Amino acid sequence: MKITDVEAIPLRLPYVDGDRCDGTQDALIIRVHTDEGLVGLGEVDSSPTVAKAIIDAPPSHSLARGLRDILLGQDPFDVQMLWRKMVEGTIYFGRAGAALQAISGVDIALWDIVGQATGQPIHKFLGGSYRDRVRVYASAIMPETVKEVHEQVNYLADEGYTAIKLGWGPLGRVSENLDIELVRAARAAAGSNDLMIDIGLVWDAAQATRMARRFEEFNLFWLEEPLPPDDLAGYAKLADSVDIRIAAGEQETTYQGFIDLIEKGHVDVVQPDLARAGGLTPAVRLAQYAYDHNILCVPHAFSTGILVAASLHYVASMPHGRLAEFTVSESPIARDLLAEPFQLETDGTVRVPQTPGLGIKVNEEVLRRYAQVPVKEC
Ligand SMILES: [Mg+2]
Repeated sequence: MKITDVEAIPLRLPYVDGDRCDGTQDALIIRVHTDEGLVGLGEVDSSPTVAKAIIDAPPSHSLARGLRDILLGQDPFDVQMLWRKMVEGTIYFGRAGAALQAISGVDIALWDIVGQATGQPIHKFLGGSYRDRVRVYASAIMPETVKEVHEQVNYLADEGYTAIKLGWGPLGRVSENLDIELVRAARAAAGSNDLMIDIGLVWDAAQATRMARRFEEFNLFWLEEPLPPDDLAGYAKLADSVDIRIAAGEQETTYQGFIDLIEKGHVDVVQPDLARAGGLTPAVRLAQYAYDHNILCVPHAFSTGILVAASLHYVASMPHGRLAEFTVSESPIARDLLAEPFQLETDGTVRVPQTPGLGIKVNEEVLRRYAQVPVKEC
């Protein structure tokens, strides 16, 4: 089998609020086409315009090539070799950041082709079927007021979620007392369900340690990204001095970045985003590393159903796969892109696809409605 094209399709809502920390306002969908008619589906979580350029760029020389140029004519079954070729072919402008994010979407699409061609769901290639359902946590932006927090958390618990995360919004940005009141309200409404809080990169180690101690009475499942992503010394100080799990990693794009978060930052939970951190190929290695070191690995996912599908296969294949993120964004890009959107089961889990590849189909009408470029017929 040979790769005949790599299509990068940016999706965008008619209005995008650049001040809002909400990654569901746009997306970059990847389709890898083959000479046997199979089409692999993937997704990149980045600036779609930036990542698309990394795929479409003509070659400058052997270390500065667009991903399409690297992949044309190659056999998609060489997925791990192609991952290496993509990393080496983008060394000039890559090695991390947007290049790794762009590679992520292609890597997911290549695994989708391997699965479709062999008739097997992707998790069979990643480590096996440890589970056919994955417990998910509802992920939402922290509302501005105590009243709205009650409404939001009550709504999510009524929907059947057994774990709920609220993040960003006013947290860490108005006052410590407001943070405490919002988290207190979330805990009261969440009852016995698990609760996670995502601060959003704004504190230093001293403030984070002080606030984590004040949060201890709320029995959080984890406290996420209280510090900027490169403050590894701060993460280590924090993680070593409080009794709350510290989670981080969604900003990381390299395997070594995650190892540093664990070894130097002492985090308790790593959160690779499969559409940012190089795709499934390096994420499987990371999950094995995390398992060997008894560190939770819970994939970050705040985009379309394509990323949800990849995350479900990933957690299904992990010996210690406890949870996956499940955005409750109302954006039609997040909610409506799949022909059959994932449904929450009554026990707070989502079924892992068992059909070949990713096991999902895109709603072509929704794809075309938000696409910023012409889309190939599939
Ligand atoms: Mg987060």
